[in-house]
Amino acid sequence: MMYDSSWDVIVVGAGPGGSKCAQEFAERGMKTLVIDRKQELGAPKRCGEGLSMRWIKITNQKPNPKWALQEIHGAILISPSGKRVEIDTRKTGQTGYIIERKMWEKELAAEAIRAGAKYMLKALVYDVIKEGEQVTGVKVKHEGKELELHSKLVIAADGVDSMVARYAGIKTSMPLTECDDGYQYEMAGVKLMDPHKMELYFGTDVAPRGYVWVFPKGNDTANVGVGIRGDLKKTAKEYLDEWIENNKEKFENASIIEVNAGVIPVTAAVEKKVTGGLMVIGDAARMVNPIHGGGIGSAMEAGMMAAEIGTKAIKEGDVSEERLKEYEEVWEETRGKEFKKILKVRQFFEKLNDEQMELIADAVDPETILELGHGKGLKTVLKIMVKKSPAAAKLAMSFLKNI
Ligand SMILES: Cc1cc2nc3c(=O)[nH]c(=O)nc-3n(C[C@H](O)[C@H](O)[C@H](O)COP(=O)(O)OP(=O)(O)OC[C@H]3O[C@@H](n4cnc5c(N)ncnc54)[C@H](O)[C@@H]3O)c2cc1C
Repeated sequence: MMYDSSWDVIVVGAGPGGSKCAQEFAERGMKTLVIDRKQELGAPKRCGEGLSMRWIKITNQKPNPKWALQEIHGAILISPSGKRVEIDTRKTGQTGYIIERKMWEKELAAEAIRAGAKYMLKALVYDVIKEGEQVTGVKVKHEGKELELHSKLVIAADGVDSMVARYAGIKTSMPLTECDDGYQYEMAGVKLMDPHKMELYFGTDVAPRGYVWVFPKGNDTANVGVGIRGDLKKTAKEYLDEWIENNKEKFENASIIEVNAGVIPVTAAVEKKVTGGLMVIGDAARMVNPIHGGGIGSAMEAGMMAAEIGTKAIKEGDVSEERLKEYEEVWEETRGKEFKKILKVRQFFEKLNDEQMELIADAVDPETILELGHGKGLKTVLKIMVKKSPAAAKLAMSFLKNI
């Protein structure tokens, strides 16, 4: 069956975006094949494993104790000088989970398989097949065999280091300044401030542009990671090790049980997301929240959009670039505009020095800080800065003009 050479849809990449997309295509009766180069889905993880209830609902999932490990109902933000801003999200309903991604990705694949999709693992897609300008399939290396598999539609869900969209002629390259480097240890024996709250540490010495996170997976286990601007000489690992060294008390009984690393595209999605016979979703299309780097939910949401529009296009017998552009429009309306606003928030925050960050910790209420992650509340923050900090006023005014 796997070696059938003709499919309605081939999804390259069985991450959250790919598997959700495959499930939705299969549920609509499309003959769907998912191809992934990994030998085990979900591993190695490249993720802090934070997933909010908002995304769980948008993507029609139900928290399952198999993967919904630790309930989270807030965050503690720590300023460069150590000031704490505590956010309790139970009031606003913005709770979530730290998930066990290895279990969860397999579960997502199982759901797609139950809907009728087929999976092929340890299979590397190394090119697309084209008829004229139209993509009509993929070339795959699978356990020593070279295969040509044909489909009406190819979905590039191959993550941040995506090549499939490029094989099809879509430019997805981005400057290092638009990527964050992530490095993370899963640790046991960590002293947590609150096992149901995420800890986020800020400061130019701690994590330039980004933050250090401690995401609890239990009472003393956590993902402890850092994300920093991608063009720095000092590595993310060096920043993380230094921070852990400076917080000895927190880690005096702790040890590392897993090491993870990866790149996060904190930019605002590639403009061109389709070509004839091919659609790009998730990290491959840079669909990540530019301020905190979360991309699981948006990858799945894009997969759902692609499946809905892709199925209609296949049934109409028209998978041309013109027809598939509907997906670009729906993305822009549903999420693209929001992520562009969030990008502005990120661009403002990366210009702040530690003193200005302290000012925000002192003067801005926690709810507004939380809203920034959705691209809202920037005006409020800027107005406070104009009032309270002559040094930051010029910078804040220049941003105010553009929002
Ligand atoms: C350090 C770090 C921490 C993060 N923390 C969070 C977090 O806490 N919450 C959150 O929401 N997001 C987080 N993210 C981002 C999140 O992991 C991604 O946004 C998400 O995985 C994107 O899903 P995807 O399906 O688009 O791609 P991926 O999950 O990357 O899946 C792509 C799949 O494609 C396969 N593939 C690639 N190329 C080929 C090929 N040529 N042939 C066959 N298969 C191929 C890969 O093996 C992979 O399985 C983090 C990222 C990093 C790096």
